[in-house]
Amino acid sequence: MAKPAPDPEAPAGLQLRPSGERSARRSRIASGVLVLLLLALSVFAVWSSQATSSAASRAVAANAMSDRYTEAASAVAAEELMERKYRLEPRPEIRGLYDASDADFVAALGRIRHQGDAGDRAFVDRVLAEHPGYLAAIDRMFAAVDRGDTAAVLLIDSGEVDPFVGIEKAVTEAARHKNDIALTELAYLQRLETLNRQLTPVLFLIGLALAALLVSISRGHRRVLEDEGARAVRDSLHDALTGLPNRTLLADRLGQALRADARVGTATGLLLLDLDRFKDINDTFGHPYGDALLTQVGPRLAGVLRDVDTVARLAGDEFVVLLPEVGSIADATGVAAKLRAALETPFHVQGIDLDVEVSVGVVLSGEHGQDATTLLKHADIAMYAAKTQNLGMCVYDPAVDGHSPAKLALLGDLRRALDRGELILHYQPQLSISTGDIVGAEALVRWQHPEHGLVFPDEFIPVAEHTGLIGPLTRHVLDTALAQARTWSDAGRPLPVSVNLSARNLLDQDLPGQVAALLSAHGVPPELLTLEVTESALMTEPARAQKVLEQLSALGIRISIDDFGAGYTSLGQLKNLPVNELKIDRSFVMTMIQDPNNALIVQSLINLGHDLGFTLVAEGVETEQIITTLAGFGCDVAQGYHLSRPITAAAFDTWCTGRSMTPMPLLTSGSHFLANGPASGEVLTSLAT
Ligand code: C2E
Ligand code: CA
Ligand code: CA
Repeated sequence: MAKPAPDPEAPAGLQLRPSGERSARRSRIASGVLVLLLLALSVFAVWSSQATSSAASRAVAANAMSDRYTEAASAVAAEELMERKYRLEPRPEIRGLYDASDADFVAALGRIRHQGDAGDRAFVDRVLAEHPGYLAAIDRMFAAVDRGDTAAVLLIDSGEVDPFVGIEKAVTEAARHKNDIALTELAYLQRLETLNRQLTPVLFLIGLALAALLVSISRGHRRVLEDEGARAVRDSLHDALTGLPNRTLLADRLGQALRADARVGTATGLLLLDLDRFKDINDTFGHPYGDALLTQVGPRLAGVLRDVDTVARLAGDEFVVLLPEVGSIADATGVAAKLRAALETPFHVQGIDLDVEVSVGVVLSGEHGQDATTLLKHADIAMYAAKTQNLGMCVYDPAVDGHSPAKLALLGDLRRALDRGELILHYQPQLSISTGDIVGAEALVRWQHPEHGLVFPDEFIPVAEHTGLIGPLTRHVLDTALAQARTWSDAGRPLPVSVNLSARNLLDQDLPGQVAALLSAHGVPPELLTLEVTESALMTEPARAQKVLEQLSALGIRISIDDFGAGYTSLGQLKNLPVNELKIDRSFVMTMIQDPNNALIVQSLINLGHDLGFTLVAEGVETEQIITTLAGFGCDVAQGYHLSRPITAAAFDTWCTGRSMTPMPLLTSGSHFLANGPASGEVLTSLAT
């Protein structure tokens, strides 16, 4: 019967997400690698083109310089040749040719100096420095030739003109060196070009591959973006936890259904479902269990619906079922019954079977409202009626709407009431039965509603518990009650105050810290504060409640068990708790005179409670006779309408003053008589029969 584990029922939308994120991450990494590759490729292209161009220009320069040196070397060679020729044929033309060669040589040196580097310029300067000496020797040699003085010619030739050979040699060597450089540069250029030629097709292919990759990555990107867009739309219309349509999508579909109703004269049913005690599941097992349970509810409901129906999640444990074109209210309640039945099978969550019940509010378009807002509001009121009256399901009835708690909850925002200080406290005195002294006051909250007047706690405390406002509300009550306790202390009449806690307060681990802070903020000693908790509050989650109670008790606060006897707690269970006081449930006290069974219960509770060391308080004391009987049973404290109703602090002060002016023991006839007197004797006799 158990439902499968939650995973198969998890909505597809939720599972899509991780893989979408993975593919987005992959495509981001791929894009990064691609960018790096493209960068490397461009760096290589730039380097290769610059290396080639600079190698080429170096080769050109080296080549030009080599040419300049060759020109200089040729000019020197020609010069020497003409010098020899003139010695054989001393003709003016030869002399002219010699001069021309020399001029060429000087011009070639000039070009080298102009185009060359520092080394070249130093070389030229050296040669030019030697040049005049050489020219002078040649002039003298040519003069000797002209004179026919062969001996002088030979002398000059062997002794002075020879250094010319040095110049020639130097120039020729420089020319060869420059030529070598030019050849080396050329060879380098050639190697570079070969490399470029070989790499170009490879790079082209790599580029092509990268381009293809780029296209595919950008396609991937687009797909991811499209997916994300689609998901964003989906997310905005669906609830993240359950994947069910959310309030927005529901409003849209409800609007469509209502327009269709107007066109073809059909009606739309709207069911508002709220899980009962879902908060207890959350509190007891933890939110993961609650969440897993919520994800299973949608599929369960959808299982018994038509395809055209919509299951939406409004918030928390609230679901709405939209039934377009439903025939009548009977049809709608029929569906509601089917839905309730569908939830009857326990939900299997991580090895635990969880029982869930649901309260359903039913409305029909046309009959209960024309627009989405009204229909939803009325469905909520009907649901609330179903919940508070334990009906399971309830069709909206305008007659119930008048003063229903739901109406109040809707009309007056409880939170606003808190903020505006509309929640006030009344105090009900507690009196010692034996002495008649005022021994305490119970703080009871009321809502001073701007339109509805004084609203009693039974009407809004459940709302506060339902909406999670109970935490702030309790803090407000504690704050106000402790401020009042401080005022009484300051007036020289310290009086213990009792404050009521809800079950949920008792599960709040922060409560002890907050109470301690409030006590010290108001400068009230802890023994002046009593916290009242009910048996059922203790039983919701005993281990956690016990921990909180122990922390509270460790502060020095008194703990009272409220409405005792109404639940199923045994006195034995209380032995292990830090309890100081038992308040007998008023249903027994109020009726103990008429109902001997209740009197017996009250008497037993008092005896057993005393055996365990508890102070016994009876509430619901409505008559003198009840007090007399309670005194006979040995009860410690009385609280009830017979003594005083809960009243404002100011009225309380007046009441106290009145009592102290005419001191009045509770028991006009004296406790001795009552303890053994006929009143209790009668009761006990009738109990025995
Ligand atoms: P309770 O704690 O049992 O409070 C006693 C209730 O009995 C009060 O009702 C009081 O007016 C009423 N009562 C007192 N004497 C008599 C009597 O002689 N006869 C009858 N018939 N009733 C009597 P009230 O003030 O309407 O409070 C109702 C319940 O609301 C309280 O029951 C308590 O459970 C809850 N409540 C009140 N104030 C707070 C609060 O500050 N926090 C929380 N969590 N609950 C509160
Ligand atoms: Ca109480
Ligand atoms: Ca009570």
